[in-house]
Amino acid sequence: MSALEESKSIGDMPVEEFREFGHKMIDWIADYLKDIEELPVLPDIKPGDIKSQLPENPPETGEEFSKIFRDVDDLILPGVTHWNHPNFMAYFNSTASGPGILAEMLTAAFNINGMVWKTCPSSAELEETMLNWLKQILNLPENFWGIIYDTASVSTMHAVACAREYYQDLEIRKRGMSGRNDLQRLRVYASEHAHSSIDKAALTLGLGLEGIHKIEVDDQFRMIPEKLAEAIEEDLSKGYYPICVVATIGTTSTTSADPLEKIAEIAKSKNIWLHVDAAHSGVTAMLPEMAEYFSGIEHADSMVVNPHKWLFTPIDLSVFYTKHPDVLKSAFSLVHEYLKTAEDNSAINYMDYGIQLGRRFRSLKLWFIIRYFGKNGLADRIREHIRLGNMFTSWVDASENFERLAPVPFSTVCFRALKEDSSGEEINNFNQNLMDEINKTGKLFLSHTKLNEKFSIRLVVSGIRTEERHVKEAWNLIQKVYNEKINDPN
Ligand SMILES: *Cc1c(COP(=O)(O)O)cnc(C)c1O
Repeated sequence: MSALEESKSIGDMPVEEFREFGHKMIDWIADYLKDIEELPVLPDIKPGDIKSQLPENPPETGEEFSKIFRDVDDLILPGVTHWNHPNFMAYFNSTASGPGILAEMLTAAFNINGMVWKTCPSSAELEETMLNWLKQILNLPENFWGIIYDTASVSTMHAVACAREYYQDLEIRKRGMSGRNDLQRLRVYASEHAHSSIDKAALTLGLGLEGIHKIEVDDQFRMIPEKLAEAIEEDLSKGYYPICVVATIGTTSTTSADPLEKIAEIAKSKNIWLHVDAAHSGVTAMLPEMAEYFSGIEHADSMVVNPHKWLFTPIDLSVFYTKHPDVLKSAFSLVHEYLKTAEDNSAINYMDYGIQLGRRFRSLKLWFIIRYFGKNGLADRIREHIRLGNMFTSWVDASENFERLAPVPFSTVCFRALKEDSSGEEINNFNQNLMDEINKTGKLFLSHTKLNEKFSIRLVVSGIRTEERHVKEAWNLIQKVYNEKINDPN
């Protein structure tokens, strides 16, 4: 047995070895962040390229850490899509800030499991405090109570579960939903542009896809309140049971904002739970100039906002706020004897407020990030992204070769290239190819959506490393590839 194998035969990596590679790893990360612009934002590889280079079988004996470390460069890096890259302007970006990355390291090192207060009082109390801080930063109502989940999909699933629990006469917690002929069909309302996580919540909670009533949008992709009111009336007349209305501030395709005040009025008048999905755009509530979009938020029963999208927090960290933590608790709390503690009545046991028992120490990320940048630093960055988004919008609007396909309330721009005598599928294919060719350069990553059957390229400015020059370069590249395609169609 070699010395290495012997030292590994029992127990953990020796602390001195950890220290050595820990320092090397930090240097590696610092260089990665420093030189990230030299990497292709989107790797040019095919499915299976990474897998084919990995051994099919696990090693019999331990390997040198230096070799594992080297393989990060050789085997992993070539298949990484660089979300931290300043030219990542696809989807809704999630960028990891320095303080966020450092907090993740510490989270892994502590490796606490925040099931109950006692299993890590710092986690429980920091989570409570951070969500109160975030509530103040975002100008949210005083009576919002928060909890951290992993993703907005999970937050929204909990929102719909809360809505279902809120109507105690349904007795869902005790009796479930299947095999009951006394239970009316439950209905959830969301716009046609709402995120698929609402459909997934319906799938998970046994409402079924037909349990969702999709509401028509106006020409700016916002839910039409009158259509919502009609849909509720129609469902009531059929004997259905409306439980939840979901309003979206910042829809996934275009970042349209549903008219919250009017929707809230309708939901309240019918005593329906109102959930606000602001996963991406919710952070803009910190800017006074964006307050109009959040007017009416005080009527919401719950809300989701993802710091892991536009608050520079490494994925994952989604915040769920509700005015009714008691309802959330009544939906999910199950306390077995071995989890009972003396502090049950004087501290928050977060396991009582959701499906998961074990939970990561995620609030540490928020603590580092909010303290490092401060309220003003966060606001300045988000405001700058909005400025850059508007700048890009003005170039699209001024160009004869491009047209914008949706309003730009935040920093997401939906647009397409124009081509003489081209329409329908032909222009859609042209734009799809244009986007694919741009992405193939590795210098910019854009994504797309379909708006009224039109293929729309989407550019989002929300990365912490994205500066004005990157947005300018993006526009130059888009025009360059466009001109090449027009001049040489093959
Ligand atoms: C991104 C997004 C989601 C889903 O977020 P996850 O955290 O990835 O589950 C839901 N709703 C909206 C509006 C989003 O932008």
